[in-house]
Amino acid sequence: MDVPLYLRPRTEPPLASLLGAGPFLHSLVDALGSPLNLLLPEVIAENAGRFRAVYRRHHLTGRVYFAHKANGSSALIRRLAAEEPAAVGVDVASLEELKHALSCGFTGDRIMATGPKDAEFLWLAARTGATVNLDSPGELDQLAALVRKYGPGRTDVLVRLSGFESAAGPGGVGTRLLSRRSRFGTPVADADELWTALERHADAVRLTGVAYHLDTTGVEEKARALERCVLLMDDCRARGLTPRAVDIGGGFGVGYVEDAGEWERWTTALSEAVLGARPPLTWRGHGYGLRNEGGTVRGTAALYPAHRRTAGPGYLDALLSHTAPVLGRPAATLLLEHLHDLYVEPGRALVDQCGLSLARVLDVRPTGDDPRRHLVRLGMNAGDVSLEEHGVLVDPVLLPRGGPEEGRAEDGPAGVHLVGNLCLEADLITRRLVHLPRLPRAGDLLAFVNTAGYAMDFHAHHAQRQPLARTVAVEADGGDWRWCPDEDYWPLAHPGGVPS
Ligand SMILES: *Cc1c(COP(=O)(O)O)cnc(C)c1O
Repeated sequence: MDVPLYLRPRTEPPLASLLGAGPFLHSLVDALGSPLNLLLPEVIAENAGRFRAVYRRHHLTGRVYFAHKANGSSALIRRLAAEEPAAVGVDVASLEELKHALSCGFTGDRIMATGPKDAEFLWLAARTGATVNLDSPGELDQLAALVRKYGPGRTDVLVRLSGFESAAGPGGVGTRLLSRRSRFGTPVADADELWTALERHADAVRLTGVAYHLDTTGVEEKARALERCVLLMDDCRARGLTPRAVDIGGGFGVGYVEDAGEWERWTTALSEAVLGARPPLTWRGHGYGLRNEGGTVRGTAALYPAHRRTAGPGYLDALLSHTAPVLGRPAATLLLEHLHDLYVEPGRALVDQCGLSLARVLDVRPTGDDPRRHLVRLGMNAGDVSLEEHGVLVDPVLLPRGGPEEGRAEDGPAGVHLVGNLCLEADLITRRLVHLPRLPRAGDLLAFVNTAGYAMDFHAHHAQRQPLARTVAVEADGGDWRWCPDEDYWPLAHPGGVPS
């Protein structure tokens, strides 16, 4: 067969040891069905702690807001609610997320409402004392009118800005580098009108900070936006407005693939396959955005950078250490000098290593066209594990039914296409040919690792009345594991809340 091109997942404890508990995982799927999501609430608290450690290293104050949209779990939100109130908050992007956060123990003063909002969402945010991260001047008018009519008093607001461009570079010369466009936020070019509107609405709202959220991995671009916010806040002060927080949004990233070499080899091989220099690596030669134009690879691969040297808290550290282009000092120094608070809104990065999704292998058979490749049909569909939807390529872990010792290692690596449980040609868990250490058998489990960020419930649906995955919270207990349904988890002595 082809030389296996693995993209093996990065796993750290406790997730790594959970993967070693094959009989426990099999018994959970036997009882609760396939697919099944597992979450480790302790890990989200540890990740929040790692972000806080970066704040401490840079002597910064402020708060880490978890972007709720990454995962709908109650256990994760309740676990975060139990963290120190001044240090950890939650960012909600819909009325239902706001209601959920309140019911999970967050008080309004720890909640940030982001994204475009309707009147009901604005009303409940204002009533409960949440901070409203304003998406547009129209939303400001709407909120101010609601506060005047229904109270309860001045509402704290941040303004989300977009369309950043660099001011002139050092010495007054410089290129105008436009950051990518966004549908969200108020363009920086309209900032003056925004400040005027905020002054007009000063009886109803209080400007407490300036925000951005950029869809990029570029530290440079983010440092430039951060500096621009600091400079704009100086303008605000000159007008008598008193913002004190810079909210730099999310997008700190996660490393999914452990080994840089595997990632390099696979992406290089994709280009070769697109050129026809090797057999396809994907279902029907899909190129993930790459194409062959007269013997040259064109296009850009629409793939998440699955191997990352710096991600999550490390990425925040790099950003804060990055020299701001105009003032020529590290971003963290600018914040310190101005005594500004730093707000971050990590989604994906805060649930790194927080969960996995399990699927039962239902059927294994050779593909029609190539007897060495197999179709593996799973008790899940592409909506249940939407790594592919986000361009995240990473191998699942095979958990044999009888435990690892009964595996047939002598069979050797196998190239498989993972297909879902819908009667739909397009229902592929991934379009990539996946290499597993051996061919799975019906009854085995595949564990998709690190799915807590956007991959386990964001795209789940009820097509064909296939069951939605249940979600359970799991906690290490000595050498054992305890579990309870996600909705029954409270951050008490252990899941289920039964005092030990
Ligand atoms: C989605 C979103 C986030 C979280 O983004 P991640 O990439 O998951 O960190 C943060 N802030 C806003 C405004 C968002 O829309």
